[in-house]
Amino acid sequence: MKLFRFNGGRIGVTSRDASYDITDALGIDLKMWPPVQMVAFIAQFAEHMPGILENSKTTKIDLSEARLEVPIEWPNKLLAYPANYRLHIREMNTKIQANVVGFFMKANSSLSGPNDPIVLPDLPGRDIHHECEVGIVIGRRGRNIPRDKAFDHIFGYACLIDVVIRGNEERVMRKSYDSFCPFGPWITTADEVPNPENLQAKLWVNNQLRQDANTKDLILDIPGVIELASRVATLFPGDIIATGTPEGVGPIKPGDRVRIAIEHLGEMNLEVVAA
Ligand code: MN
Repeated sequence: MKLFRFNGGRIGVTSRDASYDITDALGIDLKMWPPVQMVAFIAQFAEHMPGILENSKTTKIDLSEARLEVPIEWPNKLLAYPANYRLHIREMNTKIQANVVGFFMKANSSLSGPNDPIVLPDLPGRDIHHECEVGIVIGRRGRNIPRDKAFDHIFGYACLIDVVIRGNEERVMRKSYDSFCPFGPWITTADEVPNPENLQAKLWVNNQLRQDANTKDLILDIPGVIELASRVATLFPGDIIATGTPEGVGPIKPGDRVRIAIEHLGEMNLEVVAA
């Protein structure tokens, strides 16, 4: 199943190639603040899903006519791993490695959706890079999650771009500008991803292939990512974890188009603009 947000925070699902608006069936308040509707839906997915597609308030929709928005707008956390592919470590000429240094965080407000542009701040002379990543969505709360239970806590996956300004300022700041975390176009539930440890992820800038790698080459693998993060912090439904970028990172500039496509997870085609 695919979960998406559209047309002003409405919630939809795609099941067996048909798409449905389940906002009214869920009794969603579109004006709720903070906007945690999708987080709450994920937390209560097992209770809410049975029968919802047959609910009289559910309507069938044409997905191609929906304006998709970032599927999770207000998670409890947005964690990310640096230096998690060997060839990326080599290209960055760094000694750090994800399994040693662990994760960092991006501001939740850096999340943006498949129809939102990447907005670059005016920082003359600075390199702003794309990082193509598989995003994990947590489905079940947990602390100190052992490796062999890690997949029980994963709700699904989505494409994620970790945008970053290279330089020496605090990493959190360089990665936290609004729109620096395109995420989507929807959440694909874990049952529809045959092997998350064998996903080919690609990113193009202006139709030129820049990144093309597979999650089988992660240094800290997906269970390891969950285990290490949950040793530090309780993971909550709706939390997002960026697993790290492979090699091929490079600069983007206003006027570029960035496309990310990951097997089984869909694709996003994003405009890059100046602030
Ligand atoms: Mn990254």
